[in-house]
Order: sequence, then C-alpha cells, then structure tokens
Amino acid sequence: MILLNEIERGLKATCRNCLETTFYNGKIRVRVEKEGKRLVLYQREFQCQDCGELKIEPYDNELMVDWLMERCACGGEFRRDKPIFCKHCKANKTELNKSEPAV
Ligand SMILES: [Zn+2]
Ligand SMILES: [Zn+2]
Repeated sequence: MILLNEIERGLKATCRNCLETTFYNGKIRVRVEKEGKRLVLYQREFQCQDCGELKIEPYDNELMVDWLMERCACGGEFRRDKPIFCKHCKANKTELNKSEPAV
C-alpha cells in the first residue's frame, strides 16, 4: 500500500529547440506499508540513451546502480548518470548519451 509519493527534487524544463516541456523527476520518496511496518523506498528516473524515453524505477541505495537491466522498447539502455536530453527532438543529446551493448 502506497501511503505517500513525494517528489523531492524535480525539474520542469522547456527545450529551447522544440519548445516542448518535460518534467524530470529527481528522487522520489515512496512510503509504503508492508506487513504492518512502514518503509521508505526511493525511486529514480532513468532515461533511455537512444530515444530519450523516461522511466521511473525503484532505486536501491545500497547497490547504487545507475542503469537498468531492462532495455527500452527501442533497445536502448536506461541510465541515470548521463546528462538528460530532450526526448522530443534530442537537441541537447551529447556524445555521452549512448547505450552500452547489452551484457
Ligand atoms: Zn528508447
Ligand atoms: Zn526538444
């Protein structure tokens, strides 16, 4: 049961190239109740390094992973340690935004 879903940091950005506005989530804190105990989980937003699609996934603070095993529908890699680019026109996509081959 999700009690509260709060976004700690978020960024609403309008692309200077295509003028589309996208809301980028920072760290999302989710309070859940499990077996009578209250737990706090974190979710982070990952971005496909090919098409720019955004995906919110649980984030394990102990493992500190910056990518997801699951690939995007386009075959790209979801990462959160790269600069965010506009998913509509990809105007600010940099050479750092590239998918690593699947292992
Ligand atoms: Zn993709
Ligand atoms: Zn754009």
